[in-house]
Amino acid sequence: MEREETKNDPSRRDPVKTTAAGGGAAVLAGPGAKETEAARLSPSWDMVADVVVVGSGAAGLPAAIAAIDEGASVIVVEANYDVGGHAIVSGGNTPLGGGTSAQKKYGIADSPDLVFSDLTDWSVVQPNGSPDFRYNDRAVIRAFADNCAPTYEFLVANGVKFTDKAPDNSGAHSTGNSAPRENHATWTEGAGPASANGRNGTGLVRPLEASARAKGVQFLLNYKMTGIIRAALSDTASGRVLGITAQYTPTILPDTTTPLQSYLSNGNISSTKTSVNIRAARGVIIATGGSTSNVNFRRMFDPRLTEVYQVAGEPYTFQDASGELAAMAIGASLWGTANQTLENGDTIRTQRAIGCQYNYFTWELASPIFPLVRATGLGVRDWQNVILVNQVGQRFYDETKGDYPAGNRYNDISPYTPCSYLNAANIKYDASRYNFFNAASAMNAASAPPDYSAGPVWAIFDSDAVTREGWKVTPPYVDPDGWFFSADTLTDLAAAIKNRYQATPMDGATLQATVTGYNSFVDSGTDSDFGKPTPKYKIRTPPFYAAWATPLVHDTRAGLRINAQCQVIDMNGRVIPGLYCGGESAAGFNQHGLGRCACQGYIAGKNAASPIS
Ligand SMILES: Cc1cc2nc3c(=O)[nH]c(=O)nc-3n(C[C@H](O)[C@H](O)[C@H](O)COP(=O)(O)OP(=O)(O)OC[C@H]3O[C@@H](n4cnc5c(N)ncnc54)[C@H](O)[C@@H]3O)c2cc1C
Repeated sequence: MEREETKNDPSRRDPVKTTAAGGGAAVLAGPGAKETEAARLSPSWDMVADVVVVGSGAAGLPAAIAAIDEGASVIVVEANYDVGGHAIVSGGNTPLGGGTSAQKKYGIADSPDLVFSDLTDWSVVQPNGSPDFRYNDRAVIRAFADNCAPTYEFLVANGVKFTDKAPDNSGAHSTGNSAPRENHATWTEGAGPASANGRNGTGLVRPLEASARAKGVQFLLNYKMTGIIRAALSDTASGRVLGITAQYTPTILPDTTTPLQSYLSNGNISSTKTSVNIRAARGVIIATGGSTSNVNFRRMFDPRLTEVYQVAGEPYTFQDASGELAAMAIGASLWGTANQTLENGDTIRTQRAIGCQYNYFTWELASPIFPLVRATGLGVRDWQNVILVNQVGQRFYDETKGDYPAGNRYNDISPYTPCSYLNAANIKYDASRYNFFNAASAMNAASAPPDYSAGPVWAIFDSDAVTREGWKVTPPYVDPDGWFFSADTLTDLAAAIKNRYQATPMDGATLQATVTGYNSFVDSGTDSDFGKPTPKYKIRTPPFYAAWATPLVHDTRAGLRINAQCQVIDMNGRVIPGLYCGGESAAGFNQHGLGRCACQGYIAGKNAASPIS
């Protein structure tokens, strides 16, 4: 593929000019390297490689492998103690189509053109009216469409085992209406050790990690990129990205002193310095996973997303916009910001486990970071067993509507006519599908300066509900340190709720009135406030409980502007030479997860590594 950079990139002729800053250089000489040894051994660099990949998740690992496959030497810099990012705690459902071998095996017709057409179809809307693909960047989607099936084969060639069955829709979000494209990685012991929780994403990450290490990729774990080093940009100088700075960031559990270690170690490099400069002779790839954990950054897109909303994937990794901010500091542009504020199910999701801070899924007790997680949380089987109240103790919602619209995928619109406004007529409009978050954030009951946060959402239930659900309401299943409370009366329960995000104490009389009203709906069989279908159970048997049930932030859908080669673009529309980005930190692509991230990692790795002419 042709790279814009090669057309007008004076940096390709520039030797690297740096000032001496001491420190020995670890040199990784890739077969394709053309730069002089003198430049490589510049004493200001602590480590040197052709390609430096920042982040080791769904985009970073494919980027590293694709780059080393092209003959580059590669260092992966990872802030966490182990690889994987959100990808390793993910469900492993991987949307890749366009004519994969799996699709062919099961007789599914698909092609790059069909993927492109699907993912740029402006006419497609969700049941809540949100247009999945309208604001996608055509160049970014064309690159995905063309590299979609090759990425699937690349993952398989590097050891990923997808379940041998026809690609489907399960777990798919915004994958397009023309063909099933979801493939499922699964985790078994043979797929490598679990790190955070043994979810199926481990089955995607560990084989890629093992392949990368076997091919010679080096991993610098526990170091967080804090800046990108760029040559001066002038008429005579290139402005080429030269490398990065990274700081030591060990993960140390409470009551311990030893930093957590990664499971695999062959290929790990280390430093005795807390701050290192790492030279990237050919390119730096930002694969840092987005901005969900950075409250100020995420509120640029959606001011509702105050601190109260926790983040899926934490506390394993924190996607804190450090990639975006470092790139913006050297001139990079944000892009496609509309995608971040579309009401997609995956951008903000309802809780999966209640009564704990990190409440997207139930964490396993065996997780090495369980001391940070503190509680597994309680999975809710039947939302008839609880009511949800806002921070003042009022209901706002039909609790059984807890789920979210998944975004358009195969057969969601039927019949589907590409780019026809009539498609909207074939979607059953249901604005309430996104009522949960809208209601929680729009009520503003007791919201106050400085951020006017809507405050927490609490699940309220009684001991009969505990019996019906089979819950254990003691640690480590719930976290009484701010996220789970009990009392013998509803008035005492309201008074007991103390959490850093609860702006004012909940009024016991309000909570009592809410429960009395709800119990009357059970008698009448009709929820005349919010239409919960036939409320089943009264809340009447002490002790009573309040469990944290606030929605959380999940996906980043907007970030750095990239072109089809995954090169980062500046505010003047020009390529920043030597800087690449893929995954959730990259913009222009409204789709959930692993497929787009892996594909962009693959594209970025190949392009960053291609020999300097
Ligand atoms: C619980 C959960 C379940 C999911 N399930 C699915 C699913 O089934 N299917 C699907 O398609 N998607 C799923 N996703 C989404 C998917 O996991 C992500 O979209 C994908 O992993 C993002 O890839 P990425 O490479 O951009 O970021 P990540 O995979 O998160 O990797 C980013 C890495 O960069 C590191 N990093 C960040 N900043 C720095 C820095 N400054 N310096 C060094 N390192 C840094 C992070 O520590 C992290 O390891 C799920 C996500 C979560 C949280």
